[in-house]
Amino acid sequence: MAKSPEEEHPQKAFGWAARDSSGVLSPFHFSRRENGEEDVTIKILYCGVCHSDLHIVKNDWGFTRFPVVPGHEIVGVVTKTGKNVKKFKVGDRVGVGVLVGSCKKCDSCQQDLENYCPQVIFTYNSLYHDGTITYGGYSDAVVVEERYVLRFPDNLPPDAGAPLLCAGITVYSPMKYYGMTEPGKHLGVAGLGGLGHVAVKFGKAFGLRVTVISTSPKKEDEAINRLGADAFLVSSDPAKMKVAMGTMDYIIDTVSAVHALAPLLGLLKLNGKLVTLGLPDKPLELPIFPLVLGRKLVGGSDVGGMKETQEMLDFCAEHGITADIELIRMENVNMAMERLAKSDVRYRFVIDVANSLSQ
Ligand code: NAP
Ligand code: ZN
Repeated sequence: MAKSPEEEHPQKAFGWAARDSSGVLSPFHFSRRENGEEDVTIKILYCGVCHSDLHIVKNDWGFTRFPVVPGHEIVGVVTKTGKNVKKFKVGDRVGVGVLVGSCKKCDSCQQDLENYCPQVIFTYNSLYHDGTITYGGYSDAVVVEERYVLRFPDNLPPDAGAPLLCAGITVYSPMKYYGMTEPGKHLGVAGLGGLGHVAVKFGKAFGLRVTVISTSPKKEDEAINRLGADAFLVSSDPAKMKVAMGTMDYIIDTVSAVHALAPLLGLLKLNGKLVTLGLPDKPLELPIFPLVLGRKLVGGSDVGGMKETQEMLDFCAEHGITADIELIRMENVNMAMERLAKSDVRYRFVIDVANSLSQ
């Protein structure tokens, strides 16, 4: 018979887990594997709350393995290193993002695109090489193979920097891959949440003109005055949307729910590019006429590989890019999830794990 989460590994661990699709999180005792020769053990300081955590605890995608400990925007300190570990030593500040394993042999892994490896192992809700379920960063410590651990730059704050490990790389990678970085071009960012607000900051760092496309008129002032966007469009305002038709070179769509793509395609110029990053529980409808008649492109993208994630962190350190966060204690995580579901977050919740996780 399979061992319980508390007994399957030798190291005791503690975190918060959702037990069923109510999504309600509560204290959870489990265990972590022994620190292997290639592994580092990390004491977790902070962990961001991504909308993917919410999708998973609610079983929106239908493949949640309960109990689930979410969390893939982890910043912590190394407390143990295996004998073959070269990049890290005890006391180093490090990050862990969305993935903790891959096959290392396939074309994707060979090209530093471990995130697209067919055998990618996610930080939580995946089966690890040994057949046990991975548990994420809403917990006291994690054991991760060195290859999947990032150096966390000294001048990035560990709390406001944590969301870069998912939200940051998720918007940075497609901007690079799809060539959405040409200074002076016009970027639209649909959905001003965790991913969206970081996309605004990268857009400005790349020298783009940035317009936020939002369902929340009350975010306008902050979008412009705090986040540095150049303009703000309320997607439910047909008159303003009409004026903006055909003005954008690129759009990054971070909307977490089912929504219409036609208005976004309409905002693009000839040859415009729309990258969809949100992962709603049902398919979106793709209108073909505006695509064909405007030679437009629709693409997707899934976080980023380890090399590019490190590059992104270093870029953020150089340009002073961090997330705007609401720091919360672990016992308030259910409230945070409820607010996230209502698009009511400025603009990422981060859990102060080390100071609030008590047994
Ligand atoms: P978030 O903080 O909740 O932001 C999503 C934003 O979408 C909201 O703030 C809201 O912005 C807008 N929105 C929500 N419901 C909407 C609706 N019904 N119609 C129109 N707009 C709506 O979420 P996030 O953490 O940024 O994640 C966004 C999505 O990306 C999620 O689906 C998540 O799972 C996915 N994701 C994908 C990847 C990847 O690798 N591709 C990585 C991480 C996350 P406004 O208030 O401005 O309208
Ligand atoms: Zn995420």
